[in-house]
This record gives sequence, C-alpha cells and structure tokens, in this order.
Amino acid sequence: MSAQEICKVCGLPKELCVCQEISREQQRISVYSMKRKFGKVVTIIEGLDEKQVNLKDLTKDLKSKLACGGTSKEGRIELQGDHKTRVKEVLVGMGFSQDMIDVR
Ligand SMILES: [Zn+2]
Repeated sequence: MSAQEICKVCGLPKELCVCQEISREQQRISVYSMKRKFGKVVTIIEGLDEKQVNLKDLTKDLKSKLACGGTSKEGRIELQGDHKTRVKEVLVGMGFSQDMIDVR
C-alpha cells in the first residue's frame, strides 16, 4: 500500500476516512457588516472554501443579485453597502446550508 492511500489526519485508509466530509460540515460562513474609512459600510462574507466554491462566480452573482459593487480575495467577499440580511437569503437560494451561515 502506498503512503498516499492513508489519511495523514486520522491514519485510516482513504476509503474509511471521513475527515474531508467532517471539515465540509464544519465549514461555517460568517456574514457581517462593518464601517470603513469615511463612513462607508461594507458587508463581509468569510469562511468560504475556495476548493468548493468558485469565489469569482459567487461574487459576480451576489453583486448582480444585490445590485452593488464588490471584490473577493482569499475566501473572503466584500460587498459595498449593508446587505447582511439579504446575503443569507441569496446564499441559501444558491444552495448553501442555512444552518451554516452566521449573520452577526
Ligand atoms: Zn482521515
């Protein structure tokens, strides 16, 4: 058996290992708004796993659905304006789990 067939985290053979599933279930998305310089409000979405989510496409969708500007970087999306109440709705509509989205 080659070393690649054993999970490095739990030491079990890959076919028995559930480490990746667990980490997916534990992936929490945080949504909050904050004030930037000059009183500009932005909405931050954090905790997205770029291996599972195409961050660029998701940002594009959110921007068009919420009619705002925004950027994405390193698993984090920043939208212009306060959209935290609607962001959850939109994400759930896109297939994200409602229980995993924390709006702060
Ligand atoms: Zn494992």
